[in-house]
Amino acid sequence: MKILDGKKISQDIKDELKMLVSNRLKKGLKKPHLAAIIVGNDGASLTYVGSKVKACDYVGYDSTLIKLEESITEEFLLEKINNLNNNPHIDGFIVQLPLPRGIDEQKILLAIDPYKDVDGFHPTNFGRMSLEMESFIPATPYGIIELLDRYEIETSGKDCVVIGRSNIVGRPISILLSQKSKKGNATVTLAHSKTKNLKSITKNADIIISALGIPGFLKSDMVKKGVVIIDVGITRVPDQSSSKGYVIKGDVDYQNVLEKSSAITPVPGGVGPMTISMLLKNTFLACQRKD
Ligand code: NAD
Repeated sequence: MKILDGKKISQDIKDELKMLVSNRLKKGLKKPHLAAIIVGNDGASLTYVGSKVKACDYVGYDSTLIKLEESITEEFLLEKINNLNNNPHIDGFIVQLPLPRGIDEQKILLAIDPYKDVDGFHPTNFGRMSLEMESFIPATPYGIIELLDRYEIETSGKDCVVIGRSNIVGRPISILLSQKSKKGNATVTLAHSKTKNLKSITKNADIIISALGIPGFLKSDMVKKGVVIIDVGITRVPDQSSSKGYVIKGDVDYQNVLEKSSAITPVPGGVGPMTISMLLKNTFLACQRKD
């Protein structure tokens, strides 16, 4: 049984990017520059954005963090996005989700220049990805594909079940795995909250990608022996014995499913760290495209 060490692979990718940045500088080219907008004071979002900025420092990118008050208007945020769209020094930027109530998330994502949309959430990028055209692939699904690739896990001809149909994880990874590509060619079932008899579906799966956000949801009796498990779930579960007052849990009943699986991602330390390094990779590509 293999533990798919996202932390290590993510570090490898960051080191590769660091080298690529240093090569750019030797050629007299500019550093990639990532900007992030965060609205409000949500603890988890601040932590995620903080990690992204720290990762930029590590690989040698410039980064700009724009912190906005929870009370800002949609118009104000649109104006900030417009500024970033028109700023030639910024290669890519993200708007950290979720946004406060009263701000239309869809309207915000549509306002981002697709050439700077390194999260890959704009319909232009999503459409291009679906059509197997060059695009920014959303960082989490991109990270899953990279993890499968670097651990040489075969996907071609495999039965794959994705649990969760969100636009940022479940749906895009279901599309990528079904494509005619190196880490595609799988037969994919996309399960969601209205799926009936999920156990009968997951029991036959060679690969299960779980992205629903219910701690310990996927139990050992729901999987077959030799299954590959990718656990995307990240839920903060209150735990007074921890100094933070919570622990991070994945969607998988890890200890029990581990015994039956041929490969599995831990939480934390699996898909999570991959997401950040793939965002950095997209930013590098955005910068390279502008050369
Ligand atoms: P979401 O929260 O938007 O939606 C959850 C999905 O789960 C829905 O499509 C719903 O249909 C499905 N679902 C809910 N209950 C179900 C059930 N009983 N059976 C089958 N399907 C069910 O999804 P999301 O934004 O993709 O987030 C999912 C999880 O992944 C969360 O824990 C989130 O924190 C985590 N996440 C992790 C990363 C990362 O970097 N590792 C990135 C994004 C999201």
